[in-house]
Order: sequence, then C-alpha cells, then structure tokens
Amino acid sequence: MYQAKQERYDQMVYNRVGNSGIQLSAIGLGLWHNFGSVDAYENQKAIIHQAFDLGITYYDLANNYGPEPGSAEINFGRIMAGDMKSYRDEMFIATKAGYEMWPGPYGDWGSRKSIIASANQSLKRLGLDYVDVFYTHRPDPDTPVQETAAALDQLVREGKTLYVGISNYNGKQTQAITNEFNKLGTPFLIHQPRYNMFNRDVESDLFPVLTKNGKAAVGFSSLSQGLLTNKYLHGIPENSRANKSTSPFLQETQVDQTLKTVAKLNDLATKRGQTLAEMALAWNLRQPAIATVLVGASRPEQLVDNVHALNNLNFTNEELDQIDQILAG
Ligand code: NDP
Repeated sequence: MYQAKQERYDQMVYNRVGNSGIQLSAIGLGLWHNFGSVDAYENQKAIIHQAFDLGITYYDLANNYGPEPGSAEINFGRIMAGDMKSYRDEMFIATKAGYEMWPGPYGDWGSRKSIIASANQSLKRLGLDYVDVFYTHRPDPDTPVQETAAALDQLVREGKTLYVGISNYNGKQTQAITNEFNKLGTPFLIHQPRYNMFNRDVESDLFPVLTKNGKAAVGFSSLSQGLLTNKYLHGIPENSRANKSTSPFLQETQVDQTLKTVAKLNDLATKRGQTLAEMALAWNLRQPAIATVLVGASRPEQLVDNVHALNNLNFTNEELDQIDQILAG
C-alpha cells in the first residue's frame, strides 16, 4: 500500500493563482497522454505516486483524454479510489469539456447541454463527488458566451466543481467571458493556454488581459510535447511520443525542424547546470501570469527531472536575450 512521503511539501513551490485564495504547485501533472486504456496501469499509478511525493497538487484531465476517450478519467478514478483516497483533499483535480467526446451535436463544444452532460459523465468516470476546477476546453464560435458561462456557473451552484476555468480562449474572448462570470458571480479561477518557448503568442495577446483581471494561467504543453527536452537530440527514440502510433500529435517533421534550435538551447541549459527540460520549465515560470506549468510524463523519473527546474528559476538578462536570439533562428 502506497504511503505518501512525509516531506512531500518541502521542495515544491506554490504560487497563488491571480487574486484568488488558491495556491497551486508550480508544476502540475497532465494526463492527456500515458493514462489511457492502451497504457500500463502500474506505470500510471507510479507516475501519480511520484507526482504526489514531489508535492504536485494539480492534476489535469479532460473528458476525452485516453485513448480511448474517457479512459484517463476512469484510470485516474481507479487510482483515487485506491491508494490515493485519503489524499483527495490535498489534491486539486481538473477536468474539461469542449472537444469531441460522443457522437451527435451534444458531445462537443460549449452548449449548456454538452457541458452539463459531459461534467456528469466525468464525475462518474472519476468516481468523485466534485472536481476542483471544470474548464470549457475551447471557445465555441456558435454558442453565445453567456450560455457557456451560465452552464459553468450552474456546475458550481450544483456543487459539481469548486471553480471554473477556460482554455484556448484568446485575449478578446477571455475578456468577454470574464465579463459574464463577473455578472454571475462565478468563481472563475484560471485560464489554460498553450505556453512554451515555441508558442509565445499569449505573451502579448492573453497575459495582459489576465493580469488586468487579477487572473493567472496554467500553461499546457510546457515542453512542447517533449521537443524542449534532450530526448530527440540524437533522433527519435523508440520509447517516445513522436514514435507512438496512439499519439499522432507530434510529427517527425516537427522534431527535425526544431533540432538545431533545440541543440543550441540544450547547450545553454548545460551552461546553467540544468537539463533542457528544467530550463524550459523555469523559463515558462518567469512569466508572472503563469501560476503553474503542466507537464506530461511517460515515466516517474521525468517528473523528478522536471521538478529540479525549481532549483534555478532565475535568468540573467543576458541569458534571456540569448534564448530570444536562439528562438529567432
Ligand atoms: P509536455 O509538453 O510536458 O510533454 C510531455 C512529454 O514530454 C512527456 O509525455 C514525455 O514524452 C516528455 N517529457 C516530459 N518530461 C521529460 C523529461 N524530463 N525528459 C525527457 N522527456 C520528457 O506536455 P503535454 O503536451 O502532454 O501537455 C501537458 C498537459 O497539458 C497535458 O497532459 C494536458 O493535461 C494539458 N494539455 C491541455 C490542452 C488544452 O487544450 N487545454 C492541450 C494539450 C495539453 P515521452 O512520452 O516521449 O517520454
């Protein structure tokens, strides 16, 4: 039986999320990959235990994570019902609705019907009474923003989630839905955008809007799916996301295109006494708007490496300039 490490809170950094009462671990665990029905359950358990022992409090799911869709919630729910049961209140658990989950017009996007039905399904799969934050996974161009906001608000009133979040909304869309949440008095906690060295649009578009509204972000694909690590420096290893048929989201061409840049970044990380993954995460965390960086992990050791990022979060101006130059090509 798993027993959590006594000293689990000693090394982790906890950041306050905007003006809210919530602090989240600076590093959060994402379950998009490696927690599906195709993945080894014992490894999944080992990753969750490692995360918790490292002081990670934030666990990020969505209705469709798998494959097959829904299986990440089922597996995580099984782990929660077992070894992790007594730690529920030490964990901040998130799920989302908004990408295609079931056939027909109600299994996708952001209508009240989709969001409420999907949340009910998620709670069943997770075996939980409530989640800590429920997100709209992407903006829905065809549903009035008032409807999506009101559906999320209802989930809070029904006790199905404590807070609400939004993901993949641009700056303008974020301001629009924030206005609705403010009218309803909804506890809107956090935004989840893609943020890493290769994806910086949010710096000028979204982050100023979040800061103005006293909100913060939890960044996803913080390592650009593994590109911002040392794993592809010498080709595509067998045991990697780029080589997995169940993860068609990281292409060989992307790996090739970024190789030169990654090698230069890796040299700079070595000079700082960090792995590239550590430097990439520290760099994301330099942004005041970022409360948490989400990482995926295919094995527990990757989390140990990633949390080492917290040992050196400072960058000189010269290092920051060097990174900008490397990224500019
Ligand atoms: P990352 O960018 O963190 O990439 C994770 C992958 O990088 C791992 O699976 C592993 O790949 C590799 N990796 C991680 N750490 C190391 C290390 N120390 N050394 C070498 N390789 C490492 O994450 P994701 O793209 O998975 O995104 C993180 C989370 O963000 C998701 O799980 C999900 O929760 C969320 N997300 C949200 C989205 C949204 O629309 N809201 C969209 C996408 C993600 P390998 O398998 O090759 O070992």
